Amino acid sequence: MSAPETSYRICLLPGDGIGPEITAEAVKVLDSLGAVEDVGFTFDEALLGGAAIDATGSPLPDETLAKAKAADAVLLAAIGGPKWDTTDPDQPRPEQGLLGIRKGLGLYANLRPVRIFAPLRDASSLKPEFLEGVDMLIVRELTGGLYFGARGRETGVAGAATGGGAGMRAFDTMEYHEYEIERIARSAFEAARGRRGLVHSVDKANVLESSRLWRAVVHRVHAAEFADVELVDQLVDNTAMQLIRNPAQFDVILTENMFGDILSDEASMLTGSLGMLASASLGDGTALYEPSHGSAPDIAGLGVANPLAMLLSVEMMLRYSFAMDAAADRLAGVISGVLDDGWRTRDIASPDTPADRIIGTIAMGDLVAERL
Ligand code: NAD
Repeated sequence: MSAPETSYRICLLPGDGIGPEITAEAVKVLDSLGAVEDVGFTFDEALLGGAAIDATGSPLPDETLAKAKAADAVLLAAIGGPKWDTTDPDQPRPEQGLLGIRKGLGLYANLRPVRIFAPLRDASSLKPEFLEGVDMLIVRELTGGLYFGARGRETGVAGAATGGGAGMRAFDTMEYHEYEIERIARSAFEAARGRRGLVHSVDKANVLESSRLWRAVVHRVHAAEFADVELVDQLVDNTAMQLIRNPAQFDVILTENMFGDILSDEASMLTGSLGMLASASLGDGTALYEPSHGSAPDIAGLGVANPLAMLLSVEMMLRYSFAMDAAADRLAGVISGVLDDGWRTRDIASPDTPADRIIGTIAMGDLVAERL
């Protein structure tokens, strides 16, 4: 057989805990897909997080960042674990690797799809009738806002604000530049074009100046470049309520860093299952894909981890980095089919799942790879 004409290089970051186990399933599935699609995937593995600390003393070795930058896409499993938990600020921490690689790759847009797989509807804390048609994408700005603005503490502040007495004062600043809002707005509108064509831009423009700039810039980008997409402004407190009241109304939610952090966790719980949530972080260069869950140290090495969030991250990689939409649809369809047929890993099994339908990490990966 001749070598495929198209070939992509993927930087693999298995990380810690269950990371290596679910990474192996991603490689298996990509190999299967590559054979069917006649596309070559090559893998370049690198160290991140606790594994990198153990081997090199640093959670993000230079070599890892270089490999990530040189790749067509980065697939990260998860990092962290009790072994590296420390309160000593001078000790390296696995999370520094994660923040460092996001910063090093200039990833400013975090995309988190939230969809309900019909057979898993009972895992949600909402009644099934509220989940009909839920399929949304949260587009969160990742490098600006409150988490990156000026911050500090002052001691011994006296005056009326402290009721006359001396006290401590702390502040964080929510700050946005026009260019930061423009580029994240484009990410959201472009994503909406490939979906139902609806964007809810979420802000707090009735109170915050940064939100008023946000709203003005989003509307300018919309009018100039994306008039075919429907745009709705919504205040963040209302969105928090609407996500529980009527989640099916949302297609794309566009929002700033902290609002997105909170809303995406709220929305993810609609699915009821951490093992099913994928994410993509995009910038101007190489994009990074990762499941939303952590390294699950409690089940590491037992062969029971759910690889589906990792495989759904692969689906996003196919779509956003390789423009392989048909292959991404096929992978999503196969995963739905496996669930429809009753196959479950332990974390998504219900009390009435027959014991012979509860399978481990490798068996779940095999099922998906074979069906592709
Ligand atoms: P976690 O997501 O690792 O685990 C929470 C619970 O969900 C555990 O019971 C775990 O067994 C289960 N779980 C998670 N993923 C699963 C999967 N794929 N299949 C089956 N069960 C799964 O969160 P945690 O316990 O709070 O954190 C554990 C470690 O992971 C910590 O060191 C934390 O810092 C790190 N973490 C890393 C990331 C990341 O790499 N992006 C994200 C969150 C937490």
